[in-house]
Amino acid sequence: MATGRGRGGGARVAQAALAFDESTVRRWIELAATDVSAQRDVLTQLDAAIGDADHGVNMDRGLQAAVASIEAGDGAPPGELLRQVGATVMFRVGGAAGPLYGTAFREIGAFLGDAPTFGAEELLAALRAGLDGIRSLGAAVEGDKTIVDAWLPALVMFHEELGTGSVADAARRMREAAVAGAAATTPMQARKGRASYLGPRSVGHQDPGATSSAILFDALERAISAG
Ligand code: ADP
Ligand code: MG
Repeated sequence: MATGRGRGGGARVAQAALAFDESTVRRWIELAATDVSAQRDVLTQLDAAIGDADHGVNMDRGLQAAVASIEAGDGAPPGELLRQVGATVMFRVGGAAGPLYGTAFREIGAFLGDAPTFGAEELLAALRAGLDGIRSLGAAVEGDKTIVDAWLPALVMFHEELGTGSVADAARRMREAAVAGAAATTPMQARKGRASYLGPRSVGHQDPGATSSAILFDALERAISAG
């Protein structure tokens, strides 16, 4: 997937009427933290099957810390809040997922810069920068049974639907694609991360990281649909 870097570009003007701001980011991270907390045991059980049973605990700890870190950032622009979330998640989630998600949030925030608002096309481009960060760090490709298998179809769908329908519809289809992408990891054999050590025994279990990514996209849909 091609990735644009930096703000600007005429194509984005079309979405300018629908601007998101720091409250969108706060909602996203708060909803994600609440949902990950509620799904903590599910994520941990998935990781128990093909990993070391810490993904739910890791993500819950990291996102709770991220919520606390942005509560302190009153008045900060959305990009700065996301860079803060990235730094917190990087160190507080730990494991493989901490650096991967931390990089993703940091790159999303870096793309958004210090502007007070952003539109749907900028969000798409920022999310692509996040996915690029995940792929540069983890070197996973589609089908490796990782978080990439939720992010990639979600962003492809968001891109396609933004061109044809409303932002709310595009966000819904993005979330559906992330959930479907996570489910599609079940028959895959892991080729990256701890689960890859299991070889063929990793088949038949949904990937925990793709599952937590689906939760993040679900929270994102609700955050931007409420905006
Ligand atoms: P650890 O495996 O260190 O215990 P976690 O349990 O927190 O870390 O996270 C495991 C998840 O990380 C996996 O389910 C997978 O989705 C994701 N993951 C692992 N390695 C990679 C990678 N190289 N690229 C993308 N995602 C990865
Ligand atoms: Mg683990």
